[in-house]
Amino acid sequence: MTYVINPNPQPALPVRGTDKLFPIHRVYCVGRNYEEHTKEMGGNIKDPPFFFQKNPDCVITTGKFPYPSATKNVHFEIELVVALKSGGTNIKAADAMQHVYGYGVGIDMTRRDLQDVAKKLARPWEVAKAFDHSAPCTALVPAKDVDLPANGAIWLEVNGERRQSGDLSQMIWDIPHQIEFLSGLFELKSGDLIFTGTPSGVGAINKGDRLKGHVDGVGDLEVVVT
Ligand code: MN
Repeated sequence: MTYVINPNPQPALPVRGTDKLFPIHRVYCVGRNYEEHTKEMGGNIKDPPFFFQKNPDCVITTGKFPYPSATKNVHFEIELVVALKSGGTNIKAADAMQHVYGYGVGIDMTRRDLQDVAKKLARPWEVAKAFDHSAPCTALVPAKDVDLPANGAIWLEVNGERRQSGDLSQMIWDIPHQIEFLSGLFELKSGDLIFTGTPSGVGAINKGDRLKGHVDGVGDLEVVVT
């Protein structure tokens, strides 16, 4: 059998130090996984983190983020990205790390003005979170090549000025518990990405801004807003 129309390309991330690609299946994102960010967003730190999704083809590696339509307030959220090489359902936290292929540094770009409207009207978040180009990301570094990123600095600079600064140890849910929780809701699969939440200091970007994000032991992400 052949397709009646041409299929779109498989979204993928490069793997650092290789000429190979990691094919992306789904993109899960954790909301409010750092206490200080939960507070700045007006959330209750006693509420558990929650999840939303972006589309696989939201992930970009071009280093260029085109300022999106229909918004006047796009925010950066620097995040550690976890890439899965296998999956399943009801994975226990103790068994979760065997499913991890590697890590990247990503930005969960957010149309904050549209998100504010969605929150107010109790509407879904897709227009705020899952728009085109909304997930700039580095190449992946294989887990076998690095220590488990359970602590270490995570920060983001805009035009050389430090705007977000946190530590991976401040995550409310660590990576194994994110995988445990998600796998109770969805069948996780190879190729899934998890954006693991952002520390405090999120803010607006403008055309021409140069963003640099960093996660200790994982890498640096540089993005220009075009
Ligand atoms: Mn986020």
